[in-house]
Amino acid sequence: MDLNPMQNGTRAVWGGEEDLDVRGVLSSPVVNSVAFSYHDLDEWHEVATGKRNGFIYSRNTNPTVRVLEEKIRILENAEAATSFATGMAAISNTLFTFLGPGRKVVSQKDSYGGTSRMFLDFLPRFNVPVELCETGDHEQMEAAIAGGCDLVYLETPTNPTLKIVDIARLSAASKKAGAIVVVDNTFATPINQHPLMLGADLVIHSATKFLCGHSDAMGGVLAGKADLVRKVFEFREINGASLQADPAYLIARGMKTLELRIERQNASAQRIAEYLQGHARVSEVYYPGLKTHKDHSIARRQMQGFGGILSFSLDGGYDLVKKFLPSLKLVHLAASLGSVSTLAGPPRTTSHVELTEEQRKRLGIPESLIRYSVGIENVEDLIADLDAALKKL
Ligand SMILES: *Cc1c(COP(=O)(O)O)cnc(C)c1O
Repeated sequence: MDLNPMQNGTRAVWGGEEDLDVRGVLSSPVVNSVAFSYHDLDEWHEVATGKRNGFIYSRNTNPTVRVLEEKIRILENAEAATSFATGMAAISNTLFTFLGPGRKVVSQKDSYGGTSRMFLDFLPRFNVPVELCETGDHEQMEAAIAGGCDLVYLETPTNPTLKIVDIARLSAASKKAGAIVVVDNTFATPINQHPLMLGADLVIHSATKFLCGHSDAMGGVLAGKADLVRKVFEFREINGASLQADPAYLIARGMKTLELRIERQNASAQRIAEYLQGHARVSEVYYPGLKTHKDHSIARRQMQGFGGILSFSLDGGYDLVKKFLPSLKLVHLAASLGSVSTLAGPPRTTSHVELTEEQRKRLGIPESLIRYSVGIENVEDLIADLDAALKKL
């Protein structure tokens, strides 16, 4: 098309973009296009009916978003993957796809705060039966599953006390009962744990955390069996909680260094956990890589690394935490986790702020607990920082 004879209004709209087709790039283009155009209606119809590859409308599919979905599909050894605006969108869309009145879910008491709200508040409004078992009590879980259910929802390691749930064992029990198994793999990442290879049907990530790794984009992903992923994708298409190209680009970019970051964070977290365990002012350290961890043997079996998050409690109450945390220099006191920079916070005022002291106690969360998400800083500097702050107490 010759734009020269046209007016500026037209030239500004079409100039340089008439037939955009970028090849040979070293980083994937950020395609912020809402829709995709076709030269003729037959081609358009073939793409729309899935007979030919292509994109129609970005609420459904988008080339930049597809790059991220492919990355997670490959890393999780899955048949298919799809994505969402946030981790909670991935979780809620998955639960609402497979559950409904009378369709029961069995899960554990310890789960991410937002997931807990789904179980305790939103699902019951739709008459979805929810049974929550003691986290790590595998006999209780197996009995609940055998009693009949449609979906089993697991999260391991858990937030914030790093409990471990046996994915292979509970997947086997679920298969017998004919239930779909979904695992939130956010804390472990596909570098440290592969739920699908342990028997789960679907794996979910808050891509906001380790996958992105830089605290600058939000997203969620789901990977697993193609027919199941397809069902959730079809719900999300209409529900509309789609991921945009800009955050998809940032997350996919972050994932290029996922293994490097996780290997370092695994090693640093282990060193820090061992350091803290030997400190007189620290009453307990929660990290699945410690031999003293209750479920260390399950963790060894199902994980390739123990992760970048640990928790510890001080030998005092919340007042001590209030004094201790602000004197750390190499941490952001912030609610997120899985970033290149170290993040720390007390579950008492962040993830579990809605609970009473008694409820936290029942979940095994001491008032002086601190969740510490290890960044990629030099571990000697992090230990020196912790050491200086503990000395001040
Ligand atoms: C953060 C988080 C979520 C929720 O993800 P968002 O991206 O914040 O919506 C779910 N599960 C776990 C384990 C998380 O840490």
